[in-house]
Amino acid sequence: MTFTQIDHWIGNQAVPGTSGRTGPVYDPARGEQVAEVALASVDEVATAVAAAKAAQPAWRATGLSRRSEVMFRLRDLVDANRKEIASRISAEHGKVLSDALGEVARGLENIEFACGIPALLKGGYSEQAATGVDVYQLRQPLGVVAGITPFNFPGMVPMWMFANALACGNTFVLKPSEKDPSAPMFVAELLAQAGLPDGCFNVVNGDKVAVDALLEHPDVAAVSFVGSTPIARYIYETGTANGKRVQALGGAKNHMLVLPDADLDMAADAAVSAAYGSAGERCMAISVVLAVDSIADALVQRIKERIPAIKVGPGSEPDNEMGPLISAEARDRVAGYVSGAADEGATVVVDGTVGAPADGFFLNPSLLDDVKPGMKTYDDEIFGPVLGVTRVATYDEGLDLINRNPYGNGTAIFTRDGGVARRFQYEVEVGMVGINVPIPVPVSYYSFGGWKASLFGDTHIYGPEGISFYTRSKVVTSRWPDPATSSVDLGFPENR
Ligand code: NAD
Repeated sequence: MTFTQIDHWIGNQAVPGTSGRTGPVYDPARGEQVAEVALASVDEVATAVAAAKAAQPAWRATGLSRRSEVMFRLRDLVDANRKEIASRISAEHGKVLSDALGEVARGLENIEFACGIPALLKGGYSEQAATGVDVYQLRQPLGVVAGITPFNFPGMVPMWMFANALACGNTFVLKPSEKDPSAPMFVAELLAQAGLPDGCFNVVNGDKVAVDALLEHPDVAAVSFVGSTPIARYIYETGTANGKRVQALGGAKNHMLVLPDADLDMAADAAVSAAYGSAGERCMAISVVLAVDSIADALVQRIKERIPAIKVGPGSEPDNEMGPLISAEARDRVAGYVSGAADEGATVVVDGTVGAPADGFFLNPSLLDDVKPGMKTYDDEIFGPVLGVTRVATYDEGLDLINRNPYGNGTAIFTRDGGVARRFQYEVEVGMVGINVPIPVPVSYYSFGGWKASLFGDTHIYGPEGISFYTRSKVVTSRWPDPATSSVDLGFPENR
């Protein structure tokens, strides 16, 4: 059988793979292979990096208004092609079209942010730091930077990275997930149409071979990574050992704490949306509801009542709300948590392993009660449509569980008490916090990032911290000859 071939993108054109290795790309809604993606060799990665290196000096020298203009054009092209990008995401990832359109919209915000690059790169200036001496700060690009991205947001996560990286004057090599590479390949075409010069943006498709080649390549100055925690740790340790600047965002186990004074219908709606949206394959998905005892039965009942109404089916059909998982392996792994839940002491309230569409990699939503630390269903990032409820006696017990969790990506509190909500935002050891908001993904003019095992590195991704990550600061201390003040002085320069 012959499949559609997905190539690399180097020097503003599609370049067929030459390694002789390919990977399968599936339509998860049918469970069938639909394409074959090239898996890059070390030499192919070197070709992409060389193209990016050759393009960088001229791109860096391109004026800020012109770089901004390219971003504005890209903004319009992505806007005009929302549906095309979303349908490519949906076809290979499986998420429903409405969700994929939301992904594109959130990615687009990052391109819009990067349109403001002339203002974002303004430095500081101190006139007369000493007599006749001025001090000022510049932000300069790093050179060639790389992005390595996960399967669950094939459109948005690359945009988190390349928009700011390019606008800052870097050139870029993207290694997208080999599971759903078509959306980033299409965005590469849009970047070319937007007027980005050849070589500034390149895509190498591939697996560990390509990733390791990027981590070891001496001409790659920095690596942004988003994916699972074990790989994030590996990327951070290997990249930094090779002298690169690295930000590596990892996995998550996001808790939602529901207090007795919360609006329980609002909390149940939020828990269902945040747990089962995108079949739970979001790093900001809620996977644990911490229910304070007095309202736990009522909350579990409300969540349970909502589950049968969720329409599970192929993402291409407009009425469906939840699509399949990414692969047969992912479906079976997630189903294993549900079928093993009773044995580890949890109560299976809704068993999503039964009744899902038979074709494709589907599961129905599952709801587990009485989930506790020490159980696999509590400890592991399940990354599927499985919501666990853990009962806690008090706010303090809930907070303690969140703060003891090794992950610290997102969390939410549901309450009507502003004082408690404020205390929560102060005390909780998590990078992104929602107050009656279950998926608190920051807007593009803040930065996204977790704490603890959800992020390795110092800077969060996109927004102002993205600009810092993709630039180096340089401080200039300057004095110009002034005939009125010039004299010989062998003393150490003092600022007064
Ligand atoms: P993954 O870690 O398996 O893969 C991510 C990238 O790393 C892919 O490009 C993949 O090709 C590459 N990779 C995989 N194994 C590798 C290896 N052994 N050596 C080198 N590179 C390797 O993650 P995934 O399954 O694609 O995505 C899901 C994970 O990503 C979840 O854990 C999720 O929480 C996390 N995620 C985190 C965020 C965040 O912002 N923190 C956002 C999205 C997804």
